Amino acid sequence: MKNFKYIIIVLLALIMIFIFSSQYSSIKNIITDKYRSRQQLVEKNIIQTVNYINNSYKVVEQELNQEMSEYSKFLVDKYRYNSEVMEWDLEELKEKFKYYDIYIINSDLEIIKTTNEADLGLDFSNFGKFAGVVRGRLEGDSFEADRIDLSTQTGEVKKYSYMPTPDNQYLIELSIAVEDKYPSFKQLNIFTDAGELTKEYDIVEEIAFYSVEPINYGVAKLRSSKKPYLDPDVPELHEDLARKAVLTGKMQSTDIEDYNLNHTLRFFPALISSEDKYQGWNFYVVGITYNDQIIEAELNKHQYLFGTNILLMIIFFIAFITVVIYLINKFEYQANHDKLTGLANRKLFVDEFKEIKIKANKFNSKVAIIFIDIDKFKDINDNYGHDFGDKVLENIAFRLKNSLKSEDKLARMGGDEFVLALGDISSQDDAVLITQRLINKFKVPFSIEGEEIKIGLSAGISIYPNDGKNLEELIRNADYAMYQAKKNNRDLETNLI
Ligand code: GH3
Ligand code: MG
Repeated sequence: MKNFKYIIIVLLALIMIFIFSSQYSSIKNIITDKYRSRQQLVEKNIIQTVNYINNSYKVVEQELNQEMSEYSKFLVDKYRYNSEVMEWDLEELKEKFKYYDIYIINSDLEIIKTTNEADLGLDFSNFGKFAGVVRGRLEGDSFEADRIDLSTQTGEVKKYSYMPTPDNQYLIELSIAVEDKYPSFKQLNIFTDAGELTKEYDIVEEIAFYSVEPINYGVAKLRSSKKPYLDPDVPELHEDLARKAVLTGKMQSTDIEDYNLNHTLRFFPALISSEDKYQGWNFYVVGITYNDQIIEAELNKHQYLFGTNILLMIIFFIAFITVVIYLINKFEYQANHDKLTGLANRKLFVDEFKEIKIKANKFNSKVAIIFIDIDKFKDINDNYGHDFGDKVLENIAFRLKNSLKSEDKLARMGGDEFVLALGDISSQDDAVLITQRLINKFKVPFSIEGEEIKIGLSAGISIYPNDGKNLEELIRNADYAMYQAKKNNRDLETNLI
């Protein structure tokens, strides 16, 4: 019973821990899912915008190709008449072409004349592999147009075209800022979108756009929601992620920890094309930096809530278990004890005798069962009332108990009957002596509520194993002996059997 009790408690505690930890992990999953879906939303949004802009540019691309080809041919024709390019009035031509800048590149790949002051003197031969591309165009015989591209330098959306003179002395380059010709494109601003998304979602720390140059895979950070200009300070890690995103065509992600500030970086290939690779068209990567503190703070908050909850539950559980154990113990006590005197009852006495009997068998000793009945107890009830009789019974129990050794077992059998088990007896004489001493103790009258009460005991003894093999038999025989004592003479001293 006792062990069973504790097994149930441990089981209950385990069930509680299980319920709580599964609750906590599901809360954790819900929070993580919430943030993951926010991430997806941001990413979908930005990629969609990129694609939308790209598709819009494709629509105007054809028109521009045609126009550029026409203007280039016009210039090449002009060259046929007047190959002294330095004498050309480019400004006048620019007026005519509207929106287009004109560049004349010589055979050293240097811009020797242009409507765009800033680029005058620019030397393509310093441009690594791109120099080879420019030279190829100069030495070729066809008109070629790059795709619309974001300028790595200014972030402007530009388109370039090239056509060599028939003698391959010069390469005529045209450029146009797409937004100048199509102002509505200004509204299709990916950077504005990125800024808005960053503001809208607290988990987004920065959305940045990288261009990866297709020949050397050099990485430039064009702009970001934090820095709306070309950022020369690109960490190597970011460069690597952008490059890998281009090379694999797949999203690249990594977690970083800076002074306990955790971030997640996710880099998406945005505009990647396997064709036109050497046409000078850059690859684009969107790099999103997520601030992990927001999710961590929320997780911590729940962890704290969970902690206090579990603490409260433990307190409640301990209180609950204490009450349950108290009640179980109380029921156990009540089931085994006499309500009036608090002595063991017959049920407990049976169990106690079993233990004494085992011991006696082991050591080959004897056990004495002493049956005691109070003399003329009815008279006390009759003279003083039942309640007073109860008090007398309590006093009798108290005196009996105090007259015994702690290893002796005493029980109230009911009414005015008590039974005693004395272990480790060597002979019946021992039992007689002890009982006699007990009876003598009762010669001293009780003083209850100012009344002096004299109590006489009658006792009968039976010995295990001589007078019986089981308790029932032994009690019956002791009871009979007591009855004989009472019948023969009410003077107890001599009436023991
Ligand atoms: P005897 O000498 O023959 O033993 O006479 P007695 O009056 O003691 O009679 P007996 O032992 O046969 O009966 C015991 C009486 O004790 C019966 C009942 O009135 C009384 N009694 C039994 N239980 C209780 C109890 O719990 N409280 C009180 N006050 N009296 C009880
Ligand atoms: Mg009696």
